[in-house]
Amino acid sequence: MASSHTVLMRLVASAYSIAQKAGVIVRRVIAEGDLGIVEKTCATDLQTKADRLVQMSICSSLARKFPKLTIIGEELVVWVDPLDGTKEYTEGLLDNVTVLIGIAYEGKAIAGIINQPYYNYQAGPDAVLGRTIWGILGLGAFGFQLKEVPAGKHIITTTRSHSNKLVTDCVTAMNPDDVLRVGGAGNKIIQLIEGKASAYVFASPGCKKWDTCAPEVILHAVGGKLTDIHGNALQYNKEVKHMNSAGVLATLRNYDYYASRVPESVKKALVP
Ligand code: AMP
Ligand code: MG
Ligand code: MG
Repeated sequence: MASSHTVLMRLVASAYSIAQKAGVIVRRVIAEGDLGIVEKTCATDLQTKADRLVQMSICSSLARKFPKLTIIGEELVVWVDPLDGTKEYTEGLLDNVTVLIGIAYEGKAIAGIINQPYYNYQAGPDAVLGRTIWGILGLGAFGFQLKEVPAGKHIITTTRSHSNKLVTDCVTAMNPDDVLRVGGAGNKIIQLIEGKASAYVFASPGCKKWDTCAPEVILHAVGGKLTDIHGNALQYNKEVKHMNSAGVLATLRNYDYYASRVPESVKKALVP
């Protein structure tokens, strides 16, 4: 057990600096001006040169530092989203973009690192760009100031570019005071922990395990809760299917309020 703790701390420390390097690449691709956009499954499922370069950078750095990762991988699995919010990245909504590195032990998400390459980008030309948020379950989450939405306010954050009738039906059923439509799973969790939104509601398949692993750790480390739309915890073992086919429901506080308002019709349509 002592040695697996040591591996975890080394892995988190490495992932922190690897995620920062990833942020530099994400900014460089924009600065160079050629995004190299490729459509994966459809026009809203995109990949850019930044996705590809960051993926390579993270994987090669991890492989170099942890050559035995695939062996300990039976217990420790790393879920990487090189660029979360790619659609928004291609449209210049740069603060929606994050790099996500999540670490799971025996199927449970236990450590997460989120780099936000364009944090501060609206603060003027002299602003220092980018930040790294990280957390370990049971230890805490760092790199931001925890803030809550004012009591009694129901502010929903949901997808901007992957909406459909199920998504809007579910959001409407929450009786929201306000709805924020933004890109990225990482970005939406940041909204929850910084008091901008009270619930992340996504009643649709589409979001993958690499989208939720790191963000759920940050949220859980500060007392929040992320599940599928039925209330099931997400599993992150090596064999698990990648798609979060029963959607995402996440809150910092008052999880039960939102969970109790998910319509039966939505639950029926989303099979875990
Ligand atoms: P969004 O909230 O739309 O930014 O989605 C969060 C994450 O899930 C992003 O990485 C998206 O690419 C992914 N995602 C959600 N819905 C879909 C979809 N219908 N097709 C492909 N990716 C999706
Ligand atoms: Mg993503
Ligand atoms: Mg991605």
